[in-house]
Amino acid sequence: MSKQRICIVGGGFGGLYTALRLAQLPWENDQQPEITLIDKSDRFLFSPLLYELITEELQTWEIAPPFAEILADTNITFQQGCVTEINIEAQEVKVDDQISLQYDRLVMATGGKTPLDIVTGAKEHAFPFRSLEDAYQLKNRLKQLAESDADKVRVAIVGGGYSGVELACKISDFLGEKGKIRIIDRGEQILDKASEFNQKSALKAIEERKIWLDLATETTAITADSISMKFKEQIDTIPVDLVAWTVGNQVSALTQSLNLEKNDRGLLKIEPTLQVHNHNDIYALGDIAECFDQSGKLLAATAQVAFQQSDYCAWNIWADLNQKPLLSFRYQPLGEMMTLGKDSAVLSGLGLNLEGSAAYIARRLIYLYRLPTLKHQLTVGLSWLTQPLVEMLNF
Ligand SMILES: Cc1cc2nc3c(=O)[nH]c(=O)nc-3n(C[C@H](O)[C@H](O)[C@H](O)COP(=O)(O)OP(=O)(O)OC[C@H]3O[C@@H](n4cnc5c(N)ncnc54)[C@H](O)[C@@H]3O)c2cc1C
Repeated sequence: MSKQRICIVGGGFGGLYTALRLAQLPWENDQQPEITLIDKSDRFLFSPLLYELITEELQTWEIAPPFAEILADTNITFQQGCVTEINIEAQEVKVDDQISLQYDRLVMATGGKTPLDIVTGAKEHAFPFRSLEDAYQLKNRLKQLAESDADKVRVAIVGGGYSGVELACKISDFLGEKGKIRIIDRGEQILDKASEFNQKSALKAIEERKIWLDLATETTAITADSISMKFKEQIDTIPVDLVAWTVGNQVSALTQSLNLEKNDRGLLKIEPTLQVHNHNDIYALGDIAECFDQSGKLLAATAQVAFQQSDYCAWNIWADLNQKPLLSFRYQPLGEMMTLGKDSAVLSGLGLNLEGSAAYIARRLIYLYRLPTLKHQLTVGLSWLTQPLVEMLNF
């Protein structure tokens, strides 16, 4: 029998971890499938730690190891390139409009993108915060502003969700006294989906840093040096040096183009087994899939969900190819963590509430354990252990 070809599109929390798990499952020698992971980037990004690049608490190699390194000791083939087309009938994936790959099972895990077309001028002038490139660009601009002669650096952050608040605290700590930061959100409060403990802790961190909150306020336009906001039907335009945009999660043009069932937000409709509706050979997970928990509640687009789905996705592909019953995905909420400035965090979950440096250490350890391979965990762990020593010697 010819080898089954499993093609995984997107090497993020959903795709990479599915590939790694698939490679570990017990395949009979003659059944070992060909696993190909395709990503447009050459690196996996552990996005919950992206904020640490702004404050230089972490370096790129720690949070974004190259796929070549992660997959070195596996039988997974990595194909770098952008998937531009998927022919569902022909079971074929096209990379960069050139390379064609045939599949027997397809895993769709291309994640989301930040929509910058909601407000006039956002595309041209606002800084999104999702990819490594976004973090580098934001950091460069912040550095320029920090080194300028200006007394104050005025930063507006659109969005008072997890990303907006975490970014605001990091930027504040990077700029220090020179920073004048505001968070703009259309809601009546920030972090409306967070636990009460985390929300309170975040508000404290915001207050300590004198970050201004513009609540019940709609951002209406952004220019190179200003932001317009609507509050109670009145529009105010104020000068700013930098606008960071953290709002929204959209599926990519590739996902939109697929002739597969989607909900009104464009998310792929899936069965509890993570198979796409009416297509048993296609699995979808992570930010592009509409997934519900056991009580029927729509799950948020988080790494925690994608990571847990990856286990089920890999298992179900294995079961499918071995004529075994498939499992229905069951989500286990393990709590939530946020970074609140340099060397500080908040954590609540599994009956535990922690803040400050205790939460900072716990968050680091939990994320260390979640890094993709044992080898990478050990290298990063060793670096984190020796770093305080190096800093002490330099001092
Ligand atoms: C700054 C930030 C902080 C976050 N913090 C947290 C947190 O603390 N906790 C939490 O649970 N979640 C967090 N999230 C959300 C979490 O990162 C996502 O929910 C998670 O990454 C989704 O996994 P995914 O596999 O669907 O997509 P991703 O991890 O985004 O991976 C998608 C991959 O697909 C690739 N790709 C996309 N299109 C193509 C294409 N056409 N061809 C080839 N490759 C393609 C991309 O390069 C990417 O590598 C955060 C997100 C951000 C941006």
